[in-house]
Amino acid sequence: MIDLSQASRRPDTVVLTSIRAIDPAEQLDGTVDIVIEQGRITRVGEGAATPDLKASDEVLVVDGQGLWAMPAFVDLHVHFREPGHEYKEDIASGLAAAAAGGFSHVCPMPNTKPVNDTRGITEAMVARAREVGGPQLHPVGAATRGLRGEELTEMADLRDAGAVAVSDDGRCVVDSSLMRRALEYARTFELPVIQHAEDHGSTQGAQMHEGEVATRLGLRGWPRAAEDSIVARDLLLVETTGAPYHVAHVSTAGALRLLREAKARGLPVTAEVTPHHLMLSHEALQDYDPLYKVNPPLREPTDVEACRAALVDGTIDAIATDHAPHSSMEKDCEFVEAAPGLIGLELVVPVLLELVRDGTLPLARFVTALTAAPAKVIGIEPPSLRVGAPVELTVIDPAREHRVDAASLRSKSSNSPFVGCTHTGSVELTLLGRDIAYARPTDTPADGVAPRASRP
Ligand SMILES: [Zn+2]
Repeated sequence: MIDLSQASRRPDTVVLTSIRAIDPAEQLDGTVDIVIEQGRITRVGEGAATPDLKASDEVLVVDGQGLWAMPAFVDLHVHFREPGHEYKEDIASGLAAAAAGGFSHVCPMPNTKPVNDTRGITEAMVARAREVGGPQLHPVGAATRGLRGEELTEMADLRDAGAVAVSDDGRCVVDSSLMRRALEYARTFELPVIQHAEDHGSTQGAQMHEGEVATRLGLRGWPRAAEDSIVARDLLLVETTGAPYHVAHVSTAGALRLLREAKARGLPVTAEVTPHHLMLSHEALQDYDPLYKVNPPLREPTDVEACRAALVDGTIDAIATDHAPHSSMEKDCEFVEAAPGLIGLELVVPVLLELVRDGTLPLARFVTALTAAPAKVIGIEPPSLRVGAPVELTVIDPAREHRVDAASLRSKSSNSPFVGCTHTGSVELTLLGRDIAYARPTDTPADGVAPRASRP
């Protein structure tokens, strides 16, 4: 637990002593001291914390024993619902959730209301995020106007306003000729096209993955081929155009086989996977619980295994949450009526450290897939623990057992099957520049221990 009672929210100096620091891009994994002055990392190494650095109003000293420090995370895929559905989430609550999850950069998808398909909306989102402060917001602009899949957006305008990629996420660009032109056009502006790979013709009325569980439940199934066929087609278009292409929330073994082969041939393709597709299969839906309804659907255990293997071997570049907040109105209802999606920003560390602990996911891959790899996809400077770097740093307690409750979340929504469960591993501190963007409250009642007297 990190005691902030003495320090200001913007201390001049932060000292992390005897902390395990992990930054694969810097070939760093060892127990060191980290000294931060005026929002920059000035010293990293054994004995870097000199005895003159004592805790005070202006110096925050953190005893890092048992804790991990890593670059703060980059999420390529979030839904902040602003403009349009601020009752589910807005930019302020979304950024607060991001900081609490250890993130310093987030990319909101354009399926807002109205759709983010113009310079004006992109600019307004960026301006609102600056006003709020905390993690940086990099909007993903729409690839086609109104996400209608008919005509392309003015991508130069979107880029100039701050968009880092284009996508019709939530919808797939199904028309091949339009997708080819989207790739060609986006390439001119060095924007990757992010595809939500779903052949809508094959998924009409589909409620979950097409398989034995869907048959048992009598629900209309969503075939893997709806995802695989779009990825296969897109890879041919990437080969034709040479344009950078990114697959959102990949979920099938078949799509991964295609991506692996495309990468081996040097095509400029990247992919992301969500925590839920790494942790859950269609078996989870057997009680018709709408919390498990998600797009693309939870697949079979063999697909989960394929996603894990692809994340480890680098076929999947990045972990992205697809943070999709919904109110109880959209989730406390019949399965077929429920909106797909679940929240993820504040659950990445509690949920995914399980894969690190059991040896499935090397810690270095976990860090890279949340930092350098997604930063590269959108062309931003990756958060780093290098000396001289601006501070974008997350401190994790890998051993802390705690229950994640709706009340402890910064997000306005709590739609996730991982909420209400006990997890091991938590984000303790997120430092962004000179700001303490997040510090875990010392009196979290969800600790499973008697709450301490709350501070005034
Ligand atoms: Zn999507």
